[in-house]
Amino acid sequence: MPLANTLTLISGGTRGIGLATAKLFALNGSRIVILGRDQDRIKHVLDKELAPIASPSGHVGFQCDVSKSEDVEQAIKEVSKIAPVDYLVSSAGIARDSLLIAQSTHDMESLINTNLMGTIWINKAIAKGMIRRKRGAIINISSVVGIQGNIGQSIYSASKAALIGFSKSLSKELGSRGITVNVIAPGYIDTDMTSSIPEEKKKEIIAKTSLGRFGHPEDVAEAALFLAQAKFITGQVLVVDGGLI
Ligand code: NDP
Repeated sequence: MPLANTLTLISGGTRGIGLATAKLFALNGSRIVILGRDQDRIKHVLDKELAPIASPSGHVGFQCDVSKSEDVEQAIKEVSKIAPVDYLVSSAGIARDSLLIAQSTHDMESLINTNLMGTIWINKAIAKGMIRRKRGAIINISSVVGIQGNIGQSIYSASKAALIGFSKSLSKELGSRGITVNVIAPGYIDTDMTSSIPEEKKKEIIAKTSLGRFGHPEDVAEAALFLAQAKFITGQVLVVDGGLI
């Protein structure tokens, strides 16, 4: 079990990419703490999805809106009572697609506060403990849209592009303490987030993808597991998009 005796904190661990990552890290021996906003969903994931994957001390979940710094601080306080965090996967995120001129201020603020600030709050909150222990790996989930841009996603793209600059800078701040900070930029992955893309549009995307399909959440989880264990990779962006043009 390569991740035995470790703790992995996963924001957005209740669905999609975060949930697939939680399962894969648990299968590799890590104890999992998931964060999400929906208490019923957290309970469902702990009881039905993670419980069958044994951990000597059991997996845990906390209700936490990552866009609120006070929620994140409270959650990390609770997590620190359990055990130090070895791995952080910041996957919590939302999409609110609209052309810029039509996008509401509320949606713009939600995108920045969740995707960008949510990741920043949680990175800040766990970094101190990692610095003290001189170990840890942080994996922040960005998007190919943060690299390439996309019509109808200017603010989403801005939030995801900023995560790359943030993570590269943090990797330089934490490197001397043996802590790695990397980014995964997924392409189109089959989750709730992409379920409302019309079938025609999905076909177009698949036609532009070398591997001829949408990604599975597990494809991204595999990349996160690789980065968690990589000892000499930091400040990098790993694109997991099946060869999207
Ligand atoms: P899902 O919609 O399937 O899951 C999103 C997760 O984030 C849920 O667990 C949700 O839980 C949680 N979440 C959302 N907002 C908050 C919040 N304010 N506080 C805490 N948790 C929150 O999305 P995906 O799994 O597809 O996406 C995961 C990440 O990957 C996102 O950052 C997304 O931008 C990124 N990504 C996804 C791609 C895709 O094609 N699917 C492509 C590129 C990047 P709850 O709602 O219960 O709070």
